[in-house]
Amino acid sequence: MPANPSAVTAQPVARLIDELGRLPGIGPKTASRLAYHLLRTSTEEATALAEAILDVKARISLCTVCFNTTESDPCGLCGDPTRESVICVVEAPLDVVALERTGQYRGRYHVLHGSLSPVEGIGPDKLRIAELLARVEQERPTEVIIATNLDLPGEATATYLHRLLVPLGVSVSRPASGLPAGGDLEYADEVTLGRAIAARRRL
Ligand SMILES: [Zn+2]
Repeated sequence: MPANPSAVTAQPVARLIDELGRLPGIGPKTASRLAYHLLRTSTEEATALAEAILDVKARISLCTVCFNTTESDPCGLCGDPTRESVICVVEAPLDVVALERTGQYRGRYHVLHGSLSPVEGIGPDKLRIAELLARVEQERPTEVIIATNLDLPGEATATYLHRLLVPLGVSVSRPASGLPAGGDLEYADEVTLGRAIAARRRL
């Protein structure tokens, strides 16, 4: 008879494996490996990791203007008066990091926190789209760049946003091709991403 896993795994370890397994990209095997690795580390190391997680949850929130993660509200980018009056719409905070690293963009951002996906039940109400439209009406930017991912949900989101933004009288653009099709923006290399944002095309 096969061994009952709960009989060989102590409950606290099983709980840790379960929690680690909820992280993106972590399968059951990796979760087990990480859990047993943590068991072997010193109490100081384990405490440092646990405290870093709690600290980020306690101190980091979303900017009420652009919805990027921030320690202060509004965030440093929104509070910077030298930033151009252009809004770059992205899916995730990591995309902001990727675009900032290119050094090719000096405007503002708006983080949607996802992309439209009817299959996964993600409609416009689940994203920061209403907030984007209100912001465009209030801030009157010279341009909105839709830098969602180049996969199907990202393209669907771009098309949807374009349709809503055009009646507001704002110029709408999309980063130029050259980015890997189907890929996440955050995984594009700096040079490619920098070129794509600099040579964006008007929709
Ligand atoms: Zn902000």
